[in-house]
Amino acid sequence: MTNTPAANHRSHVEQDQFLTILSREEALARFEAALFPRDLPGEIRPLADALGCALAGDVVAPIDVPPFDRSNVDGFAVRSADLTSAGEAAPVRLMLNDETIACGIAPTRPVLSGTTTAIATGGPVPRGADAIVMVEHTQPAGDRAIEIRRAASPGQSVSYAGSDIARGEVLLRAGTVIGSREIGMCAACGISEVRVARRLRVAVLSTGDELVQPGEALRPAAIYDSNGAIVTAAVSENGGDAMFLGAVADDEKALESAMRAALAICDMLVLSGGTSKGAGDVSHRIIARLGKPGIIAHGVALKPGKPLCLAVCDGKPVIILPGFPTSAMFTFHDMIVPVLRRMAGLPPRADAKVDAKVPVRIASELGRTEFVMVSLVEGADGLIAYPTGKGSGAITSFAQADGFLKIDALADQMPAGREVEVTLFTPHVRVPDLVIVGSHCTGLDRVTAPLARAGLTVRSIAVGSLGGLAAAKRGECDFAPIHLFDDKTETYNTPYLSDGLELVPGWRRMQGIVFRKGDARFEGLSAEDAVRAALADPACIMVNRNQGAGTRILIDRLLKGARPDGYWNQPRSHNAVAAAVAQHRADWGMTIAPVAHASGLGFIPHAEEHYDFALVTARKQRPAVQAFFDALSSEEVRAALTEAGFRPA
Ligand code: AMP
Ligand code: MG
Repeated sequence: MTNTPAANHRSHVEQDQFLTILSREEALARFEAALFPRDLPGEIRPLADALGCALAGDVVAPIDVPPFDRSNVDGFAVRSADLTSAGEAAPVRLMLNDETIACGIAPTRPVLSGTTTAIATGGPVPRGADAIVMVEHTQPAGDRAIEIRRAASPGQSVSYAGSDIARGEVLLRAGTVIGSREIGMCAACGISEVRVARRLRVAVLSTGDELVQPGEALRPAAIYDSNGAIVTAAVSENGGDAMFLGAVADDEKALESAMRAALAICDMLVLSGGTSKGAGDVSHRIIARLGKPGIIAHGVALKPGKPLCLAVCDGKPVIILPGFPTSAMFTFHDMIVPVLRRMAGLPPRADAKVDAKVPVRIASELGRTEFVMVSLVEGADGLIAYPTGKGSGAITSFAQADGFLKIDALADQMPAGREVEVTLFTPHVRVPDLVIVGSHCTGLDRVTAPLARAGLTVRSIAVGSLGGLAAAKRGECDFAPIHLFDDKTETYNTPYLSDGLELVPGWRRMQGIVFRKGDARFEGLSAEDAVRAALADPACIMVNRNQGAGTRILIDRLLKGARPDGYWNQPRSHNAVAAAVAQHRADWGMTIAPVAHASGLGFIPHAEEHYDFALVTARKQRPAVQAFFDALSSEEVRAALTEAGFRPA
């Protein structure tokens, strides 16, 4: 089936966008074919405002630099022929001319044979002189003469006119991106303005009824507009002139007028959200009315980023990024930046790549090119690339990754241990000094605070206790924070250690029942009684935790096999449990005391959980590891942990 723009009738577009999914390469090729070749509009910019712009044409040097023969030292301008016989035992005496050539002073007297003129570094060499003798190699001989005891070669300590930059020479080539060095070269030639490719004006619009701008109060069911800020900044990072126009509700009329207004003032329009076929998703329908040829690709076999929509309206690219932040950032980086740079006359972005090993199997969808965001850590033999697996709805998946790896459309997985190429988001990776892989706890931030102040970089990768243990056994981290209860021995953590690992005690976290303050069903009860009360009320809804969580074991023991309403709602974090109760989606659950208190919820203490560290013995002596455990036992950190509601061991 073809998907030429002409074949994209309105009815077809409205029927099913995703019937015509293109491969990533095909989508990009069609998008570029619809946009290029095109004229690059140029503009003259003052040198100071040209930073980051690409030159529209060659810059030719209008003058010689230096503009005259120039002395490189403080000393005396001489005729070298006068000094041929000079030596330690045979000083040559030269009479001083009656002037001193300081910087910026043009000489007036020639240097005749037997004479010399005092000259400063940067001074123009006077007529007749062909060398400069350093002041250190001369002696005064009365107040009108000097003595020199060594010969001088012609040209000694002289920079000739044009030796740095020659008039007529191509100083900078078209397409060069102007940085401080290029600005310096132009300034040295007296160039005050340059012709550059005009900065691309890129309008950015967010769409969605749920969006609130940062700085405003969050209303129920709303979220902050992160895509707007991210895309705007990413446009600037890639040399564009970004204009953020705010968020528009999912209202066809309002959105259409916002898009038309944006297109009137920009060269490129980037929207985010509303690309799916959801009831409120209208932007792609509007595009068809904005100009020819319209939609080029809607639906790309790309993960993250399948709902990406690429269009060209009367020569201007109109892009709808997926709403999910990681999808939006990734597709912008992968598909939009190359086009943006090319339209702005900038050279393609130079992607830096490193080789790394994948520590775990990564499942992948067959038929879609999949990009997996990864964090890099130093392993025993080379870099390890950890998937930052929070999914495309999470902003941190992209923002905290060092780069990404690619899984082919035809592969359904990447096996553990595979050597891969990782494309970096920034040209340099700084491998962290301390790597923590395991269960996350807000208490960790209290311990790492002094390390950060000391300039140590810490990376904490949250994969849960069991994932952390596995990483520690493979030597991919310094230690794994764990809180694993062993039913048989009724103890925490120690039974889970294996050879090469040792336990360092961390802190205790009080686990308990959370409920909304004032809920008479729970107020004043013990945890056992509270659960009994909850089970007695069929209208009461609980929120559970995921299988494998330490908290889940405690919940199951209290429930004694009961499966009340809400049991299958199993979020993966303490905070999610508190949010569910605070927002009335559930009436009770189990979380740790600091989280319950931070959410203003009622709390019934139940059992103290041990949050400890499985330390890789082989890494014990590393300075950052020492620094961590020093901090852990310091008074300052113990006080901070206590203040946050933890009980240091
Ligand atoms: P949509 O493509 O509009 O259906 O959005 C998909 C998901 O991305 C929804 O959870 C949206 O709330 C979210 N989303 C859409 N736009 C933004 C934005 N500008 N910032 C953060 N999240 C967004
Ligand atoms: Mg939306």
